[in-house]
Formats: sequence, C-alpha cells, structure tokens
Amino acid sequence: KEELNIIQGALELRTKTVEDVLTPLSDCYMLSSDAVLDFGTMSEVMQSGFTRIPVYENDRSNIVDILFVKDLAFVDPDDCTPLKTITNFYKHPMHCVFSDTKLDVMLEEFKRGKSHLAVVQRVNSEGEGDPFYEVMGIVTLEDVIEEIIKSE
Ligand code: ATP
Ligand code: ATP
Repeated sequence: KEELNIIQGALELRTKTVEDVLTPLSDCYMLSSDAVLDFGTMSEVMQSGFTRIPVYENDRSNIVDILFVKDLAFVDPDDCTPLKTITNFYKHPMHCVFSDTKLDVMLEEFKRGKSHLAVVQRVNSEGEGDPFYEVMGIVTLEDVIEEIIKSE
C-alpha cells in the first residue's frame, strides 16, 4: 500500500503545480537587504533552522537575493558586516518559476539546476491597472519530494 501511494504521488506530479505545494510568502523566513550581520541577526538565522534565506529589498514581495547559511561561515558577528557585502560576494543565482509550473517539470529543473529553491511568481491581471508579476512564495525540492512520498 505504501508503494501504491508513492506511485500515486509520482503520477500526480504531472497534474499538480508549484502553487499546490509552495510555502506562502507570509510564512517565509527572510531578511531585509539592509540587515546587519550582528550577533542578534546571526542567532536569529541559526534559530530559524533554514538553509536558504530569501533577501528582500524594501518590500517582502521584492526578493532580490538568496542567502545560504553556509555563506556565514567566515562572518564574525563582532564585525557587524552588512548583509549586502555577503550577498554581493556570493551572488547566488535566483531561480524564478511561474505558479502554474507542473511538479514534474519543477523536479527536472531542480535536478538540472544548482539551487534547490525557487521563487514562485504569477501574473496578476486582476484589478484596473496593467498585469504585473506577483511573488506568491517559495518552493524547494523538499516540497516536491514530499508530494511524492506523502501517504494519504
Ligand atoms: P535543507 O533540508 O536542504 O537543509 P531547509 O531545511 O532549510 O533545507 P527544505 O528542506 O528545502 O529547507 O524545505 C523544508 C520546508 O521549509 C519546505 O516546505 C520549504 O518550502 C520551507 N522553507 C525553506 N526555506 C524556507 C524559509 N527561508 N522560510 C520559510 N520556509 C522555508
Ligand atoms: P546541500 O545541498 O543541502 O547544501 P550538500 O551539497 O553538502 O548539501 P547533499 O546535497 O546532501 O550535500 O549531497 C550531495 C552529494 O554529496 C550526495 O551524493 C552526498 O552523499 C554527498 N555528500 C554529502 N556530504 C558529503 C561529505 N561530507 N563528503 C562526501 N560526500 C558528501
């Protein structure tokens, strides 16, 4: 029965989209690009437990970088290094996907790419003005795998 669930989960990758499994923006642990890597910030990052941390500028929906916790290995909290110094040094590529991307396609992209986190956006054409890209949240390889192995 366990095997059937996994096969079922794998088959559903073709119909489900990243929107079904993403972590909504409001639940994301992120840092502001003007943050300073002092003891307080670095402790908070460690306590969050996350490996990849989106960095936003001014507004949480404006994600401009990804900080990897391992980028902090050479950072001394006593130096109060600006976060920008670190993100500008590592410049990890940011991977964006549309919310209607199917999970099988997403899995292939994660397998091919270097990063296991993508920022999910959609085209918002509701309302009066011109359509605009809207960030909905983040999706990681773990969210896709979870969809395969979850038992219902
Ligand atoms: P790893 O397991 O590679 O160390 P991680 O534990 O930081 O990474 P994942 O395992 O990729 O994160 O994801 C676990 C869950 O946490 C997923 O649902 C993912 O969407 C979510 N997640 C990942 N990063 C963040 C973050 N910065 N803020 C909130 N949720 C996150
Ligand atoms: P992450 O992707 O979460 O940053 P990572 O790149 O260190 O972690 P994984 O992605 O978990 O490691 O594993 C990638 C491959 O490297 C796997 O085949 C794993 O067995 C191998 N691996 C992980 N840690 C080590 C290690 N300390 N020495 C040798 N091989 C390792």
